Amino acid sequence: MSGYLPTGIQLTYLVAATLFMIGLKQMGSPATARKGNLLGAIAMLLAVVATLLDKQVLSYGLILVAIAIGSAIGSLIAYKVAMTDMPQMVGLLNGLGGLASSLVAVGEYWRVTSNGLELPLVDNLSIMASVLIGNITFTGSMIAFAKLQGIMKGAPIRFGYQQTINILLLVAFGVGAALIIADPTNVAGFISINVISLLVGVLFVIPIGGGDMPVVISLLNSLSGVAASAAGFVVMNNVLIISGALVGASGLILTQIMCKAMNRTLPNVLFSGFGTTLVTDGDAGNSSNKTVKTIDPEECAMMLGYARSVVIVPGYGMAVAQAQHAVRELSDMLERKGVEVKFAIHPVAGRMPGHMNVLLAEANVPYSQLYDMDDINTQFENTDVVLIIGANDVVNPAAKTNQASPIYGMPILEVDKAKNAIVIKRGMSAGFAGVENDLFYQQKTMMLFGGAKDMVSKLANELKQI
Ligand code: NDP
Repeated sequence: MSGYLPTGIQLTYLVAATLFMIGLKQMGSPATARKGNLLGAIAMLLAVVATLLDKQVLSYGLILVAIAIGSAIGSLIAYKVAMTDMPQMVGLLNGLGGLASSLVAVGEYWRVTSNGLELPLVDNLSIMASVLIGNITFTGSMIAFAKLQGIMKGAPIRFGYQQTINILLLVAFGVGAALIIADPTNVAGFISINVISLLVGVLFVIPIGGGDMPVVISLLNSLSGVAASAAGFVVMNNVLIISGALVGASGLILTQIMCKAMNRTLPNVLFSGFGTTLVTDGDAGNSSNKTVKTIDPEECAMMLGYARSVVIVPGYGMAVAQAQHAVRELSDMLERKGVEVKFAIHPVAGRMPGHMNVLLAEANVPYSQLYDMDDINTQFENTDVVLIIGANDVVNPAAKTNQASPIYGMPILEVDKAKNAIVIKRGMSAGFAGVENDLFYQQKTMMLFGGAKDMVSKLANELKQI
């Protein structure tokens, strides 16, 4: 263990930990989120610099090489990744965090045992915890990444006695850990518990369907924090213990929020094999005998321009089309014409928590125009036109009415209560859950077929003529 650090380093850690907490608090509101993010980054820089001042650092050269390689790969990936691929990117980062924590524990075990030093019980337990949680996070996240990236099929993989095997593996880990505590030089035992925990991570995630992967990713994010905290105990580094605990707790809160938004319980997500029912776009049900009403940009612009109140519902399609700036422009034009414009934000719209908030903030849509689901749902009755831009599942009434639907029970934006609904999408393809949407066939609904960015820009052009 690294022992006690000089007071200056400890004080810097204290400042960093405080900034992490203030930053996290600020991330709770879109109005302060950017500042919170910046504070977190400054805190991390302080923590890294303070750690590098530690006299126990063995080779600055090696650290610099690692920073250069890591930064180059990280910047390249961050630059290239599409916003819509963010969930798998987060999955990958969680996995690497878990692996790093586990490697810290392996390194410490190696250092102590190869130098014939004593390994006190508490230190030994911290190493075991870091290996267990870090390795599960690593392989679990890699499977989640593979499922979301389409490298592996999203459907749950299930086989007989799956849960029993998982429990037996955890028992085997416990036995192995006990043997190592009795004899820390038991290297074969140490290798075995590493292999077991890596296997548990794989078996933990393969039975979970692609539809539930976002919840799993946020749970793994929480686990990566717990693993980092355990690694903090291994090397007695206070800032790692605190920041790991913060990630662990906030990841758990996010998991809870996502479960609530999908109206699922965590055990249900982890053990029910949900996601089997996910179908591809083409399978979205039999709609052959139903017809939709279409509208063209000119008529649509007239309806919007002469409305008193318009609610815009952004969804995944807006993100894919990167239409947020065009949407902002349209909203500004409508407001200048005296139309009251609000944005309805569903908690799981898009493909990551806060996806719509991030995009609309990027386009500088004022926060005062954004309304949460619960707040806006009571206002639809008094809304003249709802403009749904690339959203589908989050406005699907089947979630309320069709018990057989895979999204049954998920709270939705109740756009069918508004006087008129206009849906911008390219065709009749289903959304993420792969289910048909009856909203599109309702009397009050009109379809404006086309790409989100193209159509919104056309609407803005038409509005100029009015
Ligand atoms: P959906 O995925 O349900 O639907 C998006 C719709 O956008 C599609 O039907 C598609 O139809 C349309 N679309 C795609 N590209 C374009 C484009 N360029 N222009 C216009 N339309 C386009 O989106 P929602 O936001 O309504 O719902 C999100 C779904 O994702 C929910 O089921 C949620 O549970 C899930 N999810 C959410 C996560 C989160 O954290 N937010 C994470 C992972 C999943 P068409 O092809 O016909 O144009």
